[in-house]
Amino acid sequence: MDLTAEDLRRAMQRGEFSFHYQPKVSFLTGRVEGAEALIRWRLPDGALVPPGDFIPVAEARGMVADVTRHMFPRLLDDLSRIHADQGEDRLAFNISANELDDPGLIHLVREAIESNRIRGPHLEIEITEGTAVSRQEVIVQRLTELMDAGVSLAMDDYGTGFSSLETLSRLPFSVLKLDQSFVMRMLASTKTATMVRTSIAMAQLLGIRSVMEGVESEQAYRMLLHYGCSEAQGYWISPALPLPDYLDFRRRDPVWPCSPIGMLRMAQLTHAWQYKLLVDMLFAYLEDPDAPGSIPRHLHMNHEECALGDWYHGLGQVLSGDPDFDCLDRPHRRMHDLCAEMLDATRRQASRDRIRQLMTNLSEESNALHSTLQRLEMRLLFEELHTPQ
Ligand code: C2E
Ligand code: CA
Ligand code: CA
Repeated sequence: MDLTAEDLRRAMQRGEFSFHYQPKVSFLTGRVEGAEALIRWRLPDGALVPPGDFIPVAEARGMVADVTRHMFPRLLDDLSRIHADQGEDRLAFNISANELDDPGLIHLVREAIESNRIRGPHLEIEITEGTAVSRQEVIVQRLTELMDAGVSLAMDDYGTGFSSLETLSRLPFSVLKLDQSFVMRMLASTKTATMVRTSIAMAQLLGIRSVMEGVESEQAYRMLLHYGCSEAQGYWISPALPLPDYLDFRRRDPVWPCSPIGMLRMAQLTHAWQYKLLVDMLFAYLEDPDAPGSIPRHLHMNHEECALGDWYHGLGQVLSGDPDFDCLDRPHRRMHDLCAEMLDATRRQASRDRIRQLMTNLSEESNALHSTLQRLEMRLLFEELHTPQ
């Protein structure tokens, strides 16, 4: 298709662009909690032009920011219709990374929040990188401000092109969205499945959500469910729907398989990881108490703030009342108390014997916690086996 800037401008004037909404399901509840807005161009003869045919053209003509500015008010209108009908859906919309250079877009979002047209938590911005994002400090600052207002920032198409570890480490993302090609390949390739799994684990260790798209089969869905990923999106759940169809879909409130096992496994993993980090830091301290940074200053001293505590007091609460779940709290609190004692001991330059004693106690509490988590996981796995979903 040989599109010109004039074609795109005319399409905007005639209101030929709209959003279709592809539902996103939470693995914890099995319910739709929001959707991704995907742009559609309907020509006067009724034909649909897919975004892949015109977004790259808009980018090449430097018009993609115009399209975003044109579509953002539509998104807000659609969001209020969805909220009037349903609950608290969060809508994600796509922008290209180079649009971040333009302060206009962030200003638009901020204005919508300040004028109470939307609340930050109802909005997610998916950032796709066609080209390397400029390194301006001001971009990080603007994005951080949006996150402070509760807006989620997703790194889209992670693992391809410029959506790299480098960008992930530099910009303040709150969601990792792996490129759909990995999810599509993971059933046929154990290597790819391992990459999917470790990307989910990385998101967990960074304390951010992971969203997997391109879920085209029940098998892929179930695999991701036990990997501990947060949300799924794909044709097996639903394609992107025009707004009235999306509203119908939400009214039917369909439920997909859900399970707390994935999150439990991730909590286990982060706990084991953090415990090892603590051990390393303590040994670094014992080696050289004066070395800068060897004392674990950044440890979460409050038992509700570490990754495990965050899970236990948050998402994990779906398991509240389960005897194994309930008895996780005691050894976990005890571990935090022991950490505090340990820090105090290092500050007072206690003897190695005293520190060894505290480490031994800590290790025993960690084992108790680990075996309870393990028992809980095994039991839940067997329960799922016997309950057809
Ligand atoms: P994306 O953001 O990675 O969006 C996902 C694309 O994969 C969508 O195609 C979606 O319909 C499709 N998809 C979803 N589930 C499945 C699945 O299970 N299997 C397969 N094979 N495909 C699936 P779509 O709508 O054609 O969008 C293509 C791209 O266009 C998007 O990729 C995004 O980069 C861009 N785009 C869409 N809407 C906008 C927009 O409003 N603004 C900007 N700047 N870009 C947009
Ligand atoms: Ca996207
Ligand atoms: Ca994507």
